[in-house]
Amino acid sequence: MAKSNLKIPKLCEQCRKPFEAKTVATRFCSPYCANKSGKEKKKQAKKAEQKQTLLEKSIDKIADIQTRPYISITEATILFGISKDTIRRLIIAGKIPAFNLGQRLTRISRLHMEAMFTAVDLPEEPKEEPVRMHYETNECYKIGEISEKFGISPSTVNNTIRRYGIPRRQVGKFVYVPKEQIDKLFSTN
Ligand SMILES: [Zn+2]
Repeated sequence: MAKSNLKIPKLCEQCRKPFEAKTVATRFCSPYCANKSGKEKKKQAKKAEQKQTLLEKSIDKIADIQTRPYISITEATILFGISKDTIRRLIIAGKIPAFNLGQRLTRISRLHMEAMFTAVDLPEEPKEEPVRMHYETNECYKIGEISEKFGISPSTVNNTIRRYGIPRRQVGKFVYVPKEQIDKLFSTN
């Protein structure tokens, strides 16, 4: 970077104080700050390294926890990322089976917790609701009428109605199904 006689106002990257830089590439107000910055970078690199080592150790711990059917509350906080208070509340509410091996030695069911915390991600099972009938009888055919009109046997009519989930209503000895839907289903055009 070419030197110039211009003084460039900058903030020191180390002490954050404003100073007049000699070049646009100058980052620090003084050799002291430049030196300090270098030391801190080293310190941060060391910290990151320590953190990584710690993380690797806890990976072993997590792997260990994952093989046991019963785990401690502290282990559950690691494994499921929820607070001790939340876990205690779940235990008190009877949502997670737990037992005491002694003071501060509560053990809880890992499998139960897993089921509980992964169930959220599972797609909801479609509920099989009974088909509700919203039609009046004058808007409906009886099975025999369908059979006659479309030339299909009553058992085929029944099977088809069931297969397509067409709503039906039994009144006395007759089963009523909506004309609208039957016409759509059986009409040939
Ligand atoms: Zn400085």
